[in-house]
Amino acid sequence: MSSFAELGLEPNLLHALQDLEFENPTPIQLKSIPVLLEGVTDFVGLAQTGTGKTAAFGLPLIQLTNEKENYPQALIICPTRELCMQINHDLATFKKYKSIKTEAVYGGTSISTQISTLRRGVHIVAATPGRLIDLIERKAIHLERVKYVVLDEADEMLNMGFRDDIHFILENTPQRNSLWLFSATMPDEVREIANSFMSSPMEVTIGKKNTANVNIDHYYFVMPANRRYEALRRLIDLNREMYGIIFTRTKAGAQEIAEKMGRDGYKIEALHGDLSQQQRDRVMRKFRDKTVRLLSATDVAARGIDVEGITHVINFELPDDPDIYTHRSGRTGRAGKKGICFSLCHSKEFYKIREIERLIKTPLQKMDIPSGKEVCKKLITDFVNTLLDVKPNSELDFQLTEEAASGFEQLSKQELLSKIVTLELKDVIDSYAHGEDLNVRKENAGKPRGDKHNAPARHGFRKLFINLGAKDGFHKANFLQFILDKSDLKKSVVGRIDMKELFSYMEVENNVSKKIIKKLNGQKFRGRILRVNEAGSFSGNK
Ligand code: AMP
Repeated sequence: MSSFAELGLEPNLLHALQDLEFENPTPIQLKSIPVLLEGVTDFVGLAQTGTGKTAAFGLPLIQLTNEKENYPQALIICPTRELCMQINHDLATFKKYKSIKTEAVYGGTSISTQISTLRRGVHIVAATPGRLIDLIERKAIHLERVKYVVLDEADEMLNMGFRDDIHFILENTPQRNSLWLFSATMPDEVREIANSFMSSPMEVTIGKKNTANVNIDHYYFVMPANRRYEALRRLIDLNREMYGIIFTRTKAGAQEIAEKMGRDGYKIEALHGDLSQQQRDRVMRKFRDKTVRLLSATDVAARGIDVEGITHVINFELPDDPDIYTHRSGRTGRAGKKGICFSLCHSKEFYKIREIERLIKTPLQKMDIPSGKEVCKKLITDFVNTLLDVKPNSELDFQLTEEAASGFEQLSKQELLSKIVTLELKDVIDSYAHGEDLNVRKENAGKPRGDKHNAPARHGFRKLFINLGAKDGFHKANFLQFILDKSDLKKSVVGRIDMKELFSYMEVENNVSKKIIKKLNGQKFRGRILRVNEAGSFSGNK
């Protein structure tokens, strides 16, 4: 394996890497650093979070920056404030022995401080799209001489509706020598950016496309939908050392779990978009320093979070879009460490498990939700081990305890232990006293018998996935009209429509499928970018 020095990095950077104890380049670093250091090649890196991609682009950017020229020469655009801060932090550690100035600009915080920092001169700017555009419009940042632009987590940014902003930013970097795009997945919208703004990019894929990280073990549990919370508690009680994120589909869901678990005696915080920026920062601080080890979060709020050492990701509810599963599970199993992803699923969601398996090309293993008795047994064993590890205070005078100890004479070891365990774990043991079996075990449980959702398209038709659903205010009739208006097609080419809450499936005649996809993809609906693809191309069931 090549060393960082062999990749062409300068001594200052090698020194910083030594301080960070980065011994060998990761695969994405191996492939990208030598190419990016040339500074002229457009580049597409398909890599999951946690593969070391920040250093893959950050080190070349620092080396290519001219310290003597006091203006922005490189721009990194990323989806969230958290990721932006993370990137800036990483750059700061890499440039330790250089006098390059970097700055993170993101929303939700004072723009005037950012403006004054930019005025003093910055070489590399990490930015979220919205705040960057604000700064461009206020003429507080000038991108005329930016030579390198990085789009990090490009698929996330496009999912979040930043397509037009990205176009605007890229159109405003006329002196760009190269564009480097990093993404975990390669949906059509990302391909469109590459096609529009890159010339013959070099494309590097780490692992198979859309393949989940091999360091993650994936398990799922099947239970009635209304028993999810009990199942969640059992899994957490069985893994008391868990440092994890529990994903929910809604902000209310994330809040509810945090509140319920808080009442049940767990230390947990919620992270979602209804919190103010300060509240979110406070939550993240507590989570990072492990004052709380559990976070219940929505996808949007948790985007870009890079917290070291997360042991578990729990899908309290499965996402509708299997791509989101990849993003969620990617919060664990980072930097070569092992991670576990648990998914709670009710019996009608079985098809989603299959879709995820097809996407990540890895089976999810079915496991039984532990019984109350198993959980208690584990808790007691853990407690006894902790007790055995306690080193008695050497100052404690034996005589002080002697008298009290005489009270134990009548008790057997077993009785004594029962008393201590009861004292320590009474509440939790009581709560499991009548713990029922939560598993759904019926044969065929959850197979979507006749569920239109999973049904293949009829002969002569193709099934399209569209990321709009009932939640966007549609019912079948106005949805059909909307699609026809946007695509200039006749009603006769459309077959069945299967409308879900967050997305829909629509059958269209074979010969118009491509046209519809082309027409609709990238259009906007209430500020959101439409995503349309053949259902088979994301679920794999062509
Ligand atoms: P990233 O994908 O950039 O978010 O990086 C994931 C984690 O891997 C971060 O905590 C980095 O500090 C760490 N990392 C990146 N490159 C290396 C390397 N070559 N050796 C060890 N750790 C690394």
